[in-house]
Amino acid sequence: MHFENTREFARSLDVQDSLSSYRDEFFFPEVNGRRVIYFTGNSLGLQSRRAKQYVDEVMDDWAKLAVEGHFYADKPWWDYHERFAGPLSQIVGALPDEITVMNTLTVNLHLMMVSFYRPTPQRYKIICEEKAFPSDQYMIQSQVRFHGYNPHEAIVEIKRREGEHNIRHEDVLAKIAEVGNELALVLIGGVNYYTGQVFDMKAITQAGHDVGAYVGWDLAHAAGNIKLELHDWNVDFAAWCSYKYMNSGPGNASGCFVHQMHHNNPGLPRFAGWWGHNKERRFKMEPDFDPVRGADGWQISNLPILTLAPYLASVEMFAEAGMDALIAKRNQITSYLEFILHEIDKEVDSNFEIITPSDPSARACQLSVFLHGEGRSLFDYLMQNGVITDWREPNVIRLAPVPLYCSFEDMYDFGQILKQGILSLH
Ligand SMILES: *Cc1c(COP(=O)(O)O)cnc(C)c1O
Repeated sequence: MHFENTREFARSLDVQDSLSSYRDEFFFPEVNGRRVIYFTGNSLGLQSRRAKQYVDEVMDDWAKLAVEGHFYADKPWWDYHERFAGPLSQIVGALPDEITVMNTLTVNLHLMMVSFYRPTPQRYKIICEEKAFPSDQYMIQSQVRFHGYNPHEAIVEIKRREGEHNIRHEDVLAKIAEVGNELALVLIGGVNYYTGQVFDMKAITQAGHDVGAYVGWDLAHAAGNIKLELHDWNVDFAAWCSYKYMNSGPGNASGCFVHQMHHNNPGLPRFAGWWGHNKERRFKMEPDFDPVRGADGWQISNLPILTLAPYLASVEMFAEAGMDALIAKRNQITSYLEFILHEIDKEVDSNFEIITPSDPSARACQLSVFLHGEGRSLFDYLMQNGVITDWREPNVIRLAPVPLYCSFEDMYDFGQILKQGILSLH
């Protein structure tokens, strides 16, 4: 598409944007009396009015009904989590009973590994990506040690080639084939948090299964950002946090997917608690655990309703907006941001390097920019002038133009502030 670096052009794109009304549903921080340009929805999404309303509802029910709220609130608490199955399964491409919400992301990945990482002396290796998100690295190392293996032998990282920023798909497939019958599990971030690279989850899942391994995905940067078909891709399990693209609030609940093919497998070990027990018999307080057939069978505790409330509001909003519309805008606004970056780079001769893949099918809502010339002072200038980005060592800012609440005019304004910043620092 043809783009122009003018306010009029950016506004014309906003006028054509079918999602533009959602912007007013969100609270924006202000800097110098103006709404910020918010590029960190990949780290903590903004609060929506609906999220606040849903939390208020729970607080009111608790005040008015106390313990009776479990059964007599408008949205009763005892099966509150079941409200997610419909809309959330559409968002991640699952069957409703393959989805559950509980705990937080790293905790859920640990619980999934209890079921899906069962190393034997012949088959004990885990493939993950080089420089995975630190929590994932610590988690995997601790699981390997817990089973009595050595992380240096058991964990196989897929590396970037010398001088390249992204991991090549063919290198992932080659590594899976090479580890072959020693491979117990593939566990990779579906969208890389640092570069924004999107992996071909369908092909990688198939390749893992071809050598007899389980395949799970950390979808922290994928849920609510990219088109997922977890069921059709035969993914064994996946988990994601809800506070990034899905705007559920700081540290909030995680979503979890377990493929239907595992629901009736009694041989699969898991850590149990009363909320995973047969729903009809949960309150009979019997001694023997009889898991719910479905992802809910991995639940442990009764759920933190106050944290589910803002997530439910968000899930309903995403289902209403529709992933197809969100993805169409995401592609357009990300391309527009890329165009603006190149234009400003030409004007001020600054030498940015976008390390996110330029191929739209290998990226989503994030551009990571290596600031060769500038650095931390430019990041600080942007923050002081109402552009919220984030800084990653050694010299990278990450920009996520979230389709639900960022506008094309934001991208234009960002370009102008960026240009002023660079000129003022030269
Ligand atoms: C954000 C993120 C996490 C965070 O984990 P929590 O358990 O929610 O603190 C984990 N993994 C990846 C890949 C992330 O991007």
